[in-house]
Amino acid sequence: MLERGRPVEQRDEDVRRLFTEARLDPESNICFGEGGAGTYSDGKLTTRIGHPLVRHVLQTFVDLGAPGDVLYDAAPHLGSDRLPGLVRAMRERLIQQGVEFRFDAKVTDVAIEDGRLRGLVLADGSTIEADAVLFAIGHSAADLVRALHRRGVAIEPKGFAVGVRIEHEQRVIDQMQYGRAAGHPRLPPATYRLTHRGPGGRGVYSFCMCPGGMILPSATDAGHLVINGGSNAARSGERANAALVVAVGPDDFGAEPLAGLAFREALEAQAASGEALRAPAQRVVDFLAGRTSRDLPPVSYPLGVAPANLHDVLPPLVREGLLNALRRWGARRRGFTGAGAVLVGVETRTSSPWRLVRNEQFESVNVRGLYVAGEGAGYAGGIVSSAVDGLRAALGIS
Ligand SMILES: Cc1cc2nc3c(=O)[nH]c(=O)nc-3n(C[C@H](O)[C@H](O)[C@H](O)COP(=O)(O)OP(=O)(O)OC[C@H]3O[C@@H](n4cnc5c(N)ncnc54)[C@H](O)[C@@H]3O)c2cc1C
Repeated sequence: MLERGRPVEQRDEDVRRLFTEARLDPESNICFGEGGAGTYSDGKLTTRIGHPLVRHVLQTFVDLGAPGDVLYDAAPHLGSDRLPGLVRAMRERLIQQGVEFRFDAKVTDVAIEDGRLRGLVLADGSTIEADAVLFAIGHSAADLVRALHRRGVAIEPKGFAVGVRIEHEQRVIDQMQYGRAAGHPRLPPATYRLTHRGPGGRGVYSFCMCPGGMILPSATDAGHLVINGGSNAARSGERANAALVVAVGPDDFGAEPLAGLAFREALEAQAASGEALRAPAQRVVDFLAGRTSRDLPPVSYPLGVAPANLHDVLPPLVREGLLNALRRWGARRRGFTGAGAVLVGVETRTSSPWRLVRNEQFESVNVRGLYVAGEGAGYAGGIVSSAVDGLRAALGIS
């Protein structure tokens, strides 16, 4: 197992430094390091794929120490306080089964001869001979995907979604969803899921809602601003956040294999144009009116927010999609677009903007021995579906 980042115990320290000193380690952060992108998430284990291996993934979490209710809860979640311990337990179990882990081992290139994988090149210059490798690299590994593109590995552009996070006080969401029952001690912090179809059928939707959670700095490169969300198992924070995103595709950003990546990077760079890692934010009422907010309510993002006009940050099609959807949702849901609601930019890492084209054996269609799986292959999205995809690939290889 080659991992560019650090073991989860050290990664915890790197993430703590990111939160307290705004120091971003490009190899060990919210997306990179042992456990991958889900390690500091809400740990929602919901998936719509309905594959028999879903049960195996959930059972594995329980065997490693997750509570048994994830097996029957309709919307199971683990929480970012439990996940690092589960990742460590997973590593210990794999080591017992004979897996060798190498951390700080970034793959930077592949050696291909006559359409067959021959080996890997690592950042320290060393090489590893291999005739079968499973790439489960996630959709933040832009550097490696560019290297694969240069080597001629088949890649196609893929639609994904970009936008912002919206944050409210959790009690506003509880009132919106539970009405007069809000505040009842037996009710969990409320969640929501919203969808809207804009002109031309373009989808706008809420995503990865984190009740009682926190907005997280999720960039992997200096000069980029990316946010995401997470929450602890108890979801006991006072704020609720969710991504509000607009579907984008090759018609918007072009048909080149990595055009979606370029679109994503341009937006992340645009959002970062202010003070380092401070996120641009705007009250929803001001976003609807097209003016920069004079002041902002408290926001859970640990590195601070700065008033901005998100109209200047978001591409027009994303801005218009969000404006239409917010008007619609605000008219139907009391409080959703109220004075305390705030938008924070930008959410870009929803799913992969590329697809590493593979055959039914999960092998690249033009490089034998190069197997691809998970979110960075472009065939899965989310913790459970990526895990199932990886399992299916591994079963295929063996
Ligand atoms: C903050 C946050 C919250 C989220 N919340 C949820 C949630 O609640 N529920 C949910 O289902 N999904 C959630 N997601 C999405 C989920 O985490 C991903 O869908 C999932 O982790 C994808 O799994 P993966 O194994 O395919 O890729 P990843 O988890 O991205 O793992 C890829 C791994 O490859 C390593 N790597 C990358 N490049 C290289 C290289 N060149 N050399 C060596 N190693 C490399 C990375 O360090 C990483 O460990 C969240 C994501 C984030 C960032």
